[in-house]
Amino acid sequence: MMTQPIPLTNLQARDIASVLHPYTPIHKLGEMGPLVIERGEGVYVYDTQGKPYIEGMSGLWCAGLGFGDEEMVEAATAQLRSLPYYHLFGAKGTESAIELAEKLKEIAPMPISKVFFTSSGSEANDTQVKLAWYMNNALGRPDKKKIISRMKAYHGVTVMSASLTGLPYNHMGWDLPVDRVLHTDCPHYYRFGAEGESEAEFVARIVGSLRDLIEREGPDTIAAMIAEPVMGAGGVIVPPAGYYPAIQEVLDEHDIILIDDEVINGFGRTGNWWGCQTLGMKPTTISAAKQLTAAYAPLGAVMVPEDIYQAYVDHSAKIGTFGHGFTYGGHPLGCALGVKAIEIYQRRDILGHVRKLAPVFEKRMRKLADHPLVGEARYCGLVGGVELVADKATRRSFDAKSGVGAQCARFCEAHGAILRGIGDTIALCPPMIITESELEELFDRLEKALDDCEAWVSTQGLR
Ligand code: PMP
Repeated sequence: MMTQPIPLTNLQARDIASVLHPYTPIHKLGEMGPLVIERGEGVYVYDTQGKPYIEGMSGLWCAGLGFGDEEMVEAATAQLRSLPYYHLFGAKGTESAIELAEKLKEIAPMPISKVFFTSSGSEANDTQVKLAWYMNNALGRPDKKKIISRMKAYHGVTVMSASLTGLPYNHMGWDLPVDRVLHTDCPHYYRFGAEGESEAEFVARIVGSLRDLIEREGPDTIAAMIAEPVMGAGGVIVPPAGYYPAIQEVLDEHDIILIDDEVINGFGRTGNWWGCQTLGMKPTTISAAKQLTAAYAPLGAVMVPEDIYQAYVDHSAKIGTFGHGFTYGGHPLGCALGVKAIEIYQRRDILGHVRKLAPVFEKRMRKLADHPLVGEARYCGLVGGVELVADKATRRSFDAKSGVGAQCARFCEAHGAILRGIGDTIALCPPMIITESELEELFDRLEKALDDCEAWVSTQGLR
């Protein structure tokens, strides 16, 4: 597509000159912007020209309390004044880390013994893999080390978490995935259900294929499966009912633990504290990040039950120090903000608010499903994905090179809504504090963008 060169502001020019942007087609950076955001308030962010946008993605699925929450600012300031930094290495502790670990145990969906803090979701999932290996070394099962993930999964970008991720951009050009990682089917019925296959038959087929994979590789070589209840960055995929209980049966049969990646789902996004509660999944361990601090500071966490923790203790008794930890894992600022965020979620009944708004979200998503450009509109709680297709009847996708999703996200920006194009799926994940009228406004803006996109697709001859 030919685009008019946009005159750059000073900040944009400086950005292009000096910043290497993550997840950006960097060969087109000049053409695309960048969009420099200056400040935020409630569900709105403002660019350097003062233009407001509804942040329909909570940044990167994380700013659940929106922007500029004074209570969070006060909690951060108080923590920075009293203790701006300390760590947990070598048996040191901080009150904020202790308090947050206690809070997490209180709200966990299953009995948790210990919480290990990281700085991010990727580090949490990386830690999960190392802990699964450590556990099986401790239990005298040195060959039980492979980890099963799913196609289209997103678990982060460190060498191991990017290997767990099942998306082409995270592997191509990066020499990934590494050994010991296996990918099984993505539970997306609309895309991967065979012609004439019912949802129940689809579930039976992909669970059968998981069983085949385990038997082919050898159950004694597989330590864990990692799964995100609602798959977020893979395109907001809500697995069919019955999927998790069915895979769980296979995993239990072969003594394979289930790592639950709650990095997006956790802390109310699906209407419960944890996505596993909404989706009927029974995890062995949990990874958390993002809304853990409502994104007011970076922090991740891994939560483990007592029997697994005891295996670490036994191993440490044999081989010495538990040799794992990050300089900023359990940073006091992150922990203080985690404590405050959870306290706010409880006191302001944010989960109740998500449940109250979920039917409004659903009503507007169902309406979007009728749009000529939309193949499927999927949702759970306050997270959704709208998949744009070239042909509604046959579900045919656009040619990947036509960039329809990215173009639609640009139309959203023009209408004052920040949403994300994941391939040709437009993701929605508004701050959980959004009001009903703000939510309706977000959908109104998205509808206008879809109409513009429909017209653009026609003029470009992309069908
Ligand atoms: N797991 C999931 C489910 C995620 O969505 C993300 C980030 N989008 C990660 C892990 C990685 O988290 P981070 O970017 O904090 O490393």
